[in-house]
Order: sequence, then C-alpha cells, then structure tokens
Amino acid sequence: MSDAPGGPDTGDPESNGGETLSNKAAKKRRRREPPPDPAPLPGLVDAHTHLAACGGRDAETVRAICDHAQAVGVDHVVTVADDMVDARWAVSAAGWDDRVYAAVALHPMHAGDLNDETAAELEQMVRHPRVVAVGETGLDYYWPGKSDECAPLEVQHETFRWHIDLAKRVGKPLMIHNREADRDLLDILAAEGAPESVIMHCFSGDRNVARECVERGFILSFAGTVSFANADELRVAAELVPDDQILVETDAPFLTPHPYRGQPNQSYCLPYTARALAEVRGVADAEMARLLGANARRVYGIPLP
Ligand SMILES: [Zn+2]
Ligand SMILES: [Zn+2]
Repeated sequence: MSDAPGGPDTGDPESNGGETLSNKAAKKRRRREPPPDPAPLPGLVDAHTHLAACGGRDAETVRAICDHAQAVGVDHVVTVADDMVDARWAVSAAGWDDRVYAAVALHPMHAGDLNDETAAELEQMVRHPRVVAVGETGLDYYWPGKSDECAPLEVQHETFRWHIDLAKRVGKPLMIHNREADRDLLDILAAEGAPESVIMHCFSGDRNVARECVERGFILSFAGTVSFANADELRVAAELVPDDQILVETDAPFLTPHPYRGQPNQSYCLPYTARALAEVRGVADAEMARLLGANARRVYGIPLP
C-alpha cells in the first residue's frame, strides 16, 4: 500500500500508467492484486487458514497454494472448517496433499447447525488422523443483531460447550474463535474445564486478556492484525507471551499483513507476519520462525517435512 515506506514497487498498479487511472480505480485494482512473495523464512507452519476460501477446489489447486507457500518456507498448513460442508472438504484436502492438516468444528456463526446427526459426523471426522484440532469454535458477539445468519448467543454458548467436551474426549487441541466475547469465553472455559491444549486463534485481546490466557496455559496465535498500523495494544500482548505459547497464522484469505492490508491473503504471506512478530519480540527473523514452527509442530503433532 502507498503508506509503505520503501515498499516493493512491483505489483503496484499506480507505478505504471497511474495517471490514466482514477485514484479509486487504482485502489480497487490493488485490492484484487495478491501481495508479492516475501523473502523466504524457513520452518514455518500456517497454524490457521481457510484453503477453500483461498481458491482451493481440488487436489491441483490445493497443491498450487501449498507449492507457493513452501517456496517461501511455509512447509505445512492447517486448513480450518466453518461448517459441515467445509469440514468434509477440509478432511478431503488433508488427504490430497501431505502438507495439509485439517481442523473441523462449527464456527459460532453456524452454531445452530449442531444436532444429533451433525454431532455424530463431526465427532467421527475429528478422530481422523489428519485432523489436528477441534476448531474453529468459540463465541462471536460481533455478528448477532447485524446478521440474521449468525446464531444467537445462547446457541453459541451451548455449541461451544459441546466442542470443549469433544476436544477433551478426543484429546486434540481446541481452536478458539473469539470476537468481542473475552469475558464470557474465558468464563465458560473455566466453568467447563479447558482441554489440555487451547489455541486462541487470531488473538485480538489486550494485554490483560493475554496475561490471563498465558496464565491458563493457552496458546496465542497471531495473524496479520499484529502488523497493522493501529495495533499497538496487540503488539504489547504479542511481546508478553512466553516462547512456548505463541503461534503464527494467516487466517487467509482475510487479514493480510501490513503493508498489503485489504489485498488477498494466502499461506505464502505468512513470513510477513512472522517477521512482524520477530520485530515486536526483538529476536532475529530466523530464530522467530524456528520457534513458531516448532510450537505448531508440537501443538498439532505435525512431523518435520
Ligand atoms: Zn475465526
Ligand atoms: Zn478462521
């Protein structure tokens, strides 16, 4: 984006023939343009992405996304499901390419889809050896009232409790989506008893929430948001997390890291966010990548490539 000092000049439509484009048209074009490849940063694992929403349709398109990611050091990705259709797809995708692992659950938006049938099917899928987490589940307080599609709070609570219990029964990590629901989410987890491994995906809380999560032994997974210009409080949170409780993710196709915010995100963009974390924590990029990769492999049980 134009506010990037010394940013790459490739891929900027305004840098050639910009005069003939209106500002608005140039902006629109740039929003569709994928960010350039980052310099490779070996050893990374994308701890949370949505391959289907990134253009993955079949074995071939999934392979292309993984090839692109691997070329810049992202050896494995965890593709995360939102609903039943997505969950079945994610399990298939994990079978098409051995760089892909899956997480399945009903997103809080779709919490109303839980019934005897879907519960049985989800439980069966979660036990699949290439499914490495129960997620994403949790609470979303942003959408209720704004979208009729979103499950109401009581339904979200009920379905979240079911997923907590499922994670404990199958002994796999619980991957949590939390949007503007810090207090209720932490209280429900405490009341139910958290599973051994809890991942706060796309962590977005302040330093106090971060401290509370750290004390409870949760893993904090940071997305491109940690690199955004207005994210000072999130960077404070990212700095205080102990070495063995931090992960990095794209949550692609959303949340593209600075300076490409608003452009399409994919797993190959992960090194931008890993470097942002290295800067926040005052460590070398390579060291940060090694740590982030090792944590993901430990938490999800993913072997080295
Ligand atoms: Zn989420
Ligand atoms: Zn997600």
